[in-house]
Amino acid sequence: MLTRTLIPLAEAPFDHDFARALPGEAGPPKTPRQVERACWSAALPTPVAAPRLLGWSSDAAATLGLAAPDHREAVAEILAGNRLLPGMRPLAACYGGHQFGQWAGQLGDGRAIVLGDLPTVTGERWEIQLKGAGLTPYSRGADGRAVLRSSLREFVCSEAMHHLGVPTTRALALVGSGETVVRDMFYDGRPQAEPGAIVTRVAPSFVRFGNFEIFAARGDSERLRLLADYVISRHFPELGQPGPGAYAVWFDEIARRTAVLMAHWLRVGFVHGVMNTDNLSILGLTIDYGPFGWLDHFDPDFTPNTSDGGGRYAWNQQPGIAQWNLLRLGEALLPLVDDPECLEGGLETYSRVFEAEWLRMGLAKIGVVPGTVPSDDAALLGELLSTLRLAEVDMTFFFRSLINCDPYHLPADGLPSEIDDSFYSPTTLSQAFVRRLRAWFADYTARLVADGVDEGSRRARMRVVNPCILPRNYLLQQTINQVEVGDLSGLEALLAAVRDPYTEKPELAPFLGKRPEWARSAPGCSALSCSS
Ligand code: AMP
Ligand code: MG
Repeated sequence: MLTRTLIPLAEAPFDHDFARALPGEAGPPKTPRQVERACWSAALPTPVAAPRLLGWSSDAAATLGLAAPDHREAVAEILAGNRLLPGMRPLAACYGGHQFGQWAGQLGDGRAIVLGDLPTVTGERWEIQLKGAGLTPYSRGADGRAVLRSSLREFVCSEAMHHLGVPTTRALALVGSGETVVRDMFYDGRPQAEPGAIVTRVAPSFVRFGNFEIFAARGDSERLRLLADYVISRHFPELGQPGPGAYAVWFDEIARRTAVLMAHWLRVGFVHGVMNTDNLSILGLTIDYGPFGWLDHFDPDFTPNTSDGGGRYAWNQQPGIAQWNLLRLGEALLPLVDDPECLEGGLETYSRVFEAEWLRMGLAKIGVVPGTVPSDDAALLGELLSTLRLAEVDMTFFFRSLINCDPYHLPADGLPSEIDDSFYSPTTLSQAFVRRLRAWFADYTARLVADGVDEGSRRARMRVVNPCILPRNYLLQQTINQVEVGDLSGLEALLAAVRDPYTEKPELAPFLGKRPEWARSAPGCSALSCSS
């Protein structure tokens, strides 16, 4: 058996393919400005006072071929941006974006700095990016920094999503900066100094829809093409040589991946919170964890982002918004193709793949095998979801406890006792709700009988798509509170718990609970803002 030798971070063979292959600007550094004709700007991290390694993902490290840190101080220096390694060429990417439906012009990496990329022995290449590493030419009026609370949330959630099987950027480490950052958490005129941090993000590429939009908006077809060709050749090699014939197929593949991602978000009850086009990955990854959240009780209209009063990015709006964002990307790619209609296939692919994937995943959540009549399948799933919104039911708990119900022996009246715990107030369920859910159970059983589904396979199917452990916002907030006073034990335990989110283990009891009542409307738990 081949064993891979893990190398210490300080000896990692860094490279900088993005900077070498694409046009950028070497300077002048940092002054916020419009950066024309460049895919990136050189941007050195600004050193911090007292870096401290707060968290380390051994899974992400293993993927990169990195050994566990022997000298935590030395690793913290590197991942705070205080010390550069040979081969690194730090840069901030230039991109634009549509924010909340409006073209916002140039945005760019205002606080994220790619140090370089790390080729692995298995032939992959991973970009290593520090978020919160200081000013760049794209910092606009802001400080280039990030607070510990948002960095910890991103660190844990990136790794959790990976283990949930949801495409995502990864996170290698969380480093406290030893400095404070001033934030007005709820934009209510009460700014406070908070501990600062830097999260090390890892992905094959951090290119977003907005990287293409900025060149299209500026009429810079040359850079648009260079970037598209780069992304195709490095990240979509299966599509063959970049060129006029490849763009439509590429757009189709981006649409397909985005559709799959949206189905996964719905499956696990994830709400991204800020699905602006600068926050959609060209690789179909979850990217830029900010005011994200989870559906604790099943409310499809929920968004945790208090800056999104209209619910534009609520859980059930996400698939439609992704499609809207793909339209913006398609428009940006128009200068690359002779016939605009060739990109329309991608939009059709999006709708088709999303419908199919969501139905497939949704049916798996209830242990049902897709049948020959998709509209019957959709009706069975749709009726359950419409019913669940009529009571306060914990989405994660409900689907996990449905595994334990015996649909072949339903009670003569009332609901199966196994689902009792999934309700936030089980004693106040309305008669109408109980009747409707009972009726659904009857249809469900009939369907299982018609399909000849045995209990073993029903349960097995459900166990692999219905997580029991999510980094719920209240768990993250409890962990933040501990880390802010110097106790790292909770962070390690949470990170360990999210590594195996589909297996209920007694020792993980502290992470298995429904949202506690205190967290219903607590800041950081159900209400978050973009201030991070
Ligand atoms: P986000 O909503 O976090 O994806 O950020 C939107 C834009 O604002 C991106 O261009 C970020 O780089 C930029 N940005 C957010 N926070 C800061 C900050 N503290 N300093 C500089 N730029 C920031
Ligand atoms: Mg962003």
